[in-house]
Amino acid sequence: MSRTGPSIPIPRTVPILPLHDKVLLPGVVTRMQITRRDSIPLFEQILRTFDSRELSKCIIGVFPVRPPPTSITTPSTTAPIQQSSADNRSDTKKPGVLPHGELIIPGPSPLLPNPRSSNGKDERALVSLRASSSVNPAHIHSTGCAARLVRLERAVGGFTVVLEGLVRLRLNKFTSQSPYFEAEVTPLPDKAVNKSDQELQDQIVALRSTSKEFVSLLQSLKLPAPVLTQLQKFLDNVTVMPGQVVDLLMSTIESSLDEKVMILEAVDLKDRISKAIELLTRQIHVLKISQKVHDNVEGKLNKKQREFYLRQQMAAIKEELGEKDAGEDDEMTQIESRLAAVNLPADVQKAADRELKRLKKMQPSSSEYSVIRNYLDWLADLPWAKSSEDILDVEKARKQLNDDHHGLEKVKRRILEYLAVTKLQQLKGDVRGPILCLVGPPGVGKTSLGRSIASAMGRKFHRISLGGVWDESEIRGHRRTYVGALPGLIIHGLKKCEVNNPVFLLDEIDKVGSRGHHGDPSAAFLEVLDPEQNNSFTDHYLNVPFDLSKILFIATANSLDTIPAPLLDRMETITIPGYTYAEKLAIATNHLLPKQIRQHGLGETDVQVTQDALLKVATGYTRESGVRHLEREIGSLVRAKAVEYAEIQEKKEAGQSVLTEYQPLVSLDDVEEILGQEKFVNEVTERVAVPGVVTGMAYNGVGGGILFIEVSQMPGKGNLQLTGSLGDVIKESAQIALSWVKSHGYEIGLTNSPGQNVMEKADVHIHMPGGGTPKDGPSAGIAMVCALVSMFSNRTVPSTTAMTGEFTLRGLVMPVGGIKEKVIAAHRAGVRKIIMPLRNQKDVTSDVPVNVREDIEFFYASTIGEVLREAFEGRLMVRSSASTVIDSRM
Ligand code: ADP
Repeated sequence: MSRTGPSIPIPRTVPILPLHDKVLLPGVVTRMQITRRDSIPLFEQILRTFDSRELSKCIIGVFPVRPPPTSITTPSTTAPIQQSSADNRSDTKKPGVLPHGELIIPGPSPLLPNPRSSNGKDERALVSLRASSSVNPAHIHSTGCAARLVRLERAVGGFTVVLEGLVRLRLNKFTSQSPYFEAEVTPLPDKAVNKSDQELQDQIVALRSTSKEFVSLLQSLKLPAPVLTQLQKFLDNVTVMPGQVVDLLMSTIESSLDEKVMILEAVDLKDRISKAIELLTRQIHVLKISQKVHDNVEGKLNKKQREFYLRQQMAAIKEELGEKDAGEDDEMTQIESRLAAVNLPADVQKAADRELKRLKKMQPSSSEYSVIRNYLDWLADLPWAKSSEDILDVEKARKQLNDDHHGLEKVKRRILEYLAVTKLQQLKGDVRGPILCLVGPPGVGKTSLGRSIASAMGRKFHRISLGGVWDESEIRGHRRTYVGALPGLIIHGLKKCEVNNPVFLLDEIDKVGSRGHHGDPSAAFLEVLDPEQNNSFTDHYLNVPFDLSKILFIATANSLDTIPAPLLDRMETITIPGYTYAEKLAIATNHLLPKQIRQHGLGETDVQVTQDALLKVATGYTRESGVRHLEREIGSLVRAKAVEYAEIQEKKEAGQSVLTEYQPLVSLDDVEEILGQEKFVNEVTERVAVPGVVTGMAYNGVGGGILFIEVSQMPGKGNLQLTGSLGDVIKESAQIALSWVKSHGYEIGLTNSPGQNVMEKADVHIHMPGGGTPKDGPSAGIAMVCALVSMFSNRTVPSTTAMTGEFTLRGLVMPVGGIKEKVIAAHRAGVRKIIMPLRNQKDVTSDVPVNVREDIEFFYASTIGEVLREAFEGRLMVRSSASTVIDSRM
């Protein structure tokens, strides 16, 4: 039994593994596939004989086989030794570099003793082998390498083994040839270096410098770090064991089978070193050429690619150092995946890709970076393809509208029709519906109707307040070239809704200014509301089209007068008139009060308000067409009760005695106590009729109302003075009224002779109180005549009689608009009798609620004579053209 190096026992007889196309050198670990028939029985036997934990104790002799002279297929001569697969399983190779994947460099030989050596059975470990090998023993080289079995696994068609070369062997004689070879061997360990052998020392110096150059070249070709460090470590040993260093280096270079055999057979150190230097030098040459090629290729990478390459490297370095800037990378991937998730339309995707590309090249600290970042955020936040599911259930919608709103029958019916039509259109795949415009005074429930429509349809609701929007850019956004540019109101709303089919309430569309400094905002709405155009609405900031056609637009307006005609054209208007006191009472009882109680955190029955108390709140504390102030006043009532409730509750909890229990009822007397003195007295009923004052009826954008027309005369020369912020039309009406009175002074008993001028020595002043509110329109005509007549005749017109109507110089009474609102407002103000043009009768019968109609006495006139007779209730002397007194009851 012999030993290699310090401690590895090699049995005298070992099983032989003939290698056909490769060479194993001492110090090298290699993996190979065993599939040849002549090698399989050896490993079968080893598996049978050795326990898997004792495998490493199995020593075999690995000997190269000379290819038979008749062989046509010569084994690959370029196959590197460590890729020693009997099947030439090839790994990917770098030019000039050996595949390093399987190169395992052992540490200082930690080999275990052969277990058999201790019990004397070592040499005969594998004796019971039968059958013959197909390899001609004459072709087996006489120099080989002892190998330790590191791993042995069954594989497809044979075995996978990992062998570690230990020491050179000389084959003395075969002791068995079947089923595999066995032979007596002699280990040929390297001799210790003779320090005094100058020739050897010179060779070692040469070897060292050549191998250093070789390793540094390998380094520049980026071999994995662990392999290189081990190689370098090994090079440090070159003076002590140059033979082992050579063996190892030879296994990493490209060389032919013959060259490898030559190294294996070079038992003599000097011989081996000189051959190795020769091979190494050749390899260095090859490496240098491939390095050059590599450099050339790199030089051709353009700037962009190089940048990318460097960035990748930087990322890798950062990662290696554990310094990876997670935020930066995350930000980019985050925005990318967010953009991918929102399903951008193709053209938008293109824009997004372009911006993303720019962003990637930018410093995160640069200002442009954040501009682009913001822009991409906007793209990623918009609901490009996200819609909510519509509920188009007319019955359900009806219930919702009825639950939320009292009365408004006509409006609700119209809305339901609208929903039904939308439903049918959707079934047909056409989603374009008309745009609703709810018109009416404030507080009549336009906004809350919009909200009900949205919830009945199961859609999101968003209110865009347009009062005071003067610039187009508020709607369409600013171009990104502006500092701090942002999208406009429409895109903002979509982002907030997170779906592309919300209900958008364009509140107060009549307040949109049409002559902004920067573009016309109402022109932008023309596009937004046009079903032909709004599927590609382009916000200035986004600069890519967004499809608005799924949005349900509902507009609200106080009056239609200021809405530009083309815009009005796009919309279907539904008018909501003001409420009567009866309606207000019902709304307060069923909606406003319960809502306020809820909002103040009280139970349903904790506040109860009597009907007369509610009516007092409506009449004495509010004057409006809608119920907004009423709601506020009811809120004050409820709040007061909530405080009372809480105080008593606190006292009880603190164990204090309470003088009076909490009383949920609010009665008529309590109202003044809580809300303070009544703010409004009933104008007409409280007013004492005076000559020269007549109740007129007005209508403006915020609803109807009454107004008093006051006339007085003073000494003068027949001049007319008009005050009260009157417009041109109303001034003309006043002129006409005065002219008519002057010309008919005798007929109506103001003068004693037909030729007398009623204003001979007097000036007349007509005033309409409320100078702060501009007034215009022709409808005060008949009221002014009555006021003038009243003054000149010193007769009164009851203040509970109101009138509206235009008239001609010839005394014909002409119809006017806003009848419904005027009548409702007049009723609210306590008017009992209304005089109006005959041709407005149909408006009263069709529009005015029955309960209002029943409360008021209507008189329809077609001439001014009829008006005067009715206004003065016969107390005026009117002469017929034949100068007979028609009525002389006075
Ligand atoms: P607008 O938009 O017309 O100015 P809002 O929709 O803001 O009016 O209405 C003001 C308040 O009055 C809301 O709380 C609303 O619910 C309530 N309201 C108005 N009309 C009715 C009604 N017919 N039934 C119940 N509540 C109503």
